[in-house]
Amino acid sequence: MNLEQLLASFPHPVGPLRILIVDDQAVNIRALHEVFRGRFEVLMATNGEQAIALCREQRPDIILLDVVMPGISGHEVCRRLKADPETRNIPVIFVTSQSQEGDEALGLEIGAVDFISKPINPVIVSARVRTHLALKLQSDLLRSIAMIDGLTKVANRRKFDEELDLNWRYCLRERRPLSLVLLDLDYFKQFNDRYGHQEGDHCLISVAEVLSDSVRRPRDLVARYGGEEFVGILPDTDCRGATSRAEVIRAAVKALKIEHLGSAVGKVVTISAGVATQIPDFGSTHQALLAAVDQQLYRAKHDGRDRVCATEIT
Ligand code: GH3
Ligand code: MG
Ligand code: MG
Repeated sequence: MNLEQLLASFPHPVGPLRILIVDDQAVNIRALHEVFRGRFEVLMATNGEQAIALCREQRPDIILLDVVMPGISGHEVCRRLKADPETRNIPVIFVTSQSQEGDEALGLEIGAVDFISKPINPVIVSARVRTHLALKLQSDLLRSIAMIDGLTKVANRRKFDEELDLNWRYCLRERRPLSLVLLDLDYFKQFNDRYGHQEGDHCLISVAEVLSDSVRRPRDLVARYGGEEFVGILPDTDCRGATSRAEVIRAAVKALKIEHLGSAVGKVVTISAGVATQIPDFGSTHQALLAAVDQQLYRAKHDGRDRVCATEIT
């Protein structure tokens, strides 16, 4: 399947594909830019540090990486990208001159997918890049399917675990607060008993939609945590912000007005939520944050349900 067919077969639209060209010499960048401009969004970097920063911020779909550069070498850039879970899946193609052929084995060992030799042949470069982009998109798609909850279509627990780890590191690096919102439907067992499992499933789907609509910054994540529990990861969000998000969600679920006559806190479906916030530090792990948010949810249940309880770990 070629790249266009693949893109057309995707269940969701894929934005313009982004290619990062890294070379310390403008003439080389220009030559590659000429090959890809118009068909891809082209990002450029002239040294290794810049390349790594760009990868973190912009997540290109593929990288064409020069080996010999002043400062950190292409090999070192590749090593660092492969060591970071956030950039590990971006395919790297080295662009080498004839004299560097011996470096190819090393390049493959450290995780590059291919080589292109300088001076570049536009037809070959273009074909190789398209092949690797197609492979990358296919593996992205498989990974994303494996990370989605079949019923509600939000992220599943596995994805949550992965993202929590990534966001913990991100907030640790940036010294930013990380907030979790854990919510649970109130008296949902009675809902199933009274209205049936199918209605129960519909209800879960509706709540997941509300959540996805309410927690929607680019780095945010909503996941199904367990049966009728959902969790939101809100990086770069303090406790006040996360608590107000949780209140928005609570109000929005109530506003769905899904009848629930078996509930002891009202006539419609409601949720209880816990919020916990922490600025990650090297001495702790996200386990404490998870335990704290769980405890807050428990408190919200214990204090009467249909409410939000929050805490800050300092
Ligand atoms: P509380 O207010 O304390 O949370 O009470 P609860 O009844 O909601 O909590 P409990 O943990 O006792 O029951 C959870 C129920 O959620 C059990 C099960 O019937 C329901 N549930 C869990 N997963 C699913 C699902 O995938 N579909 C449906 N329809 N129901 C589910
Ligand atoms: Mg419940
Ligand atoms: Mg529960």
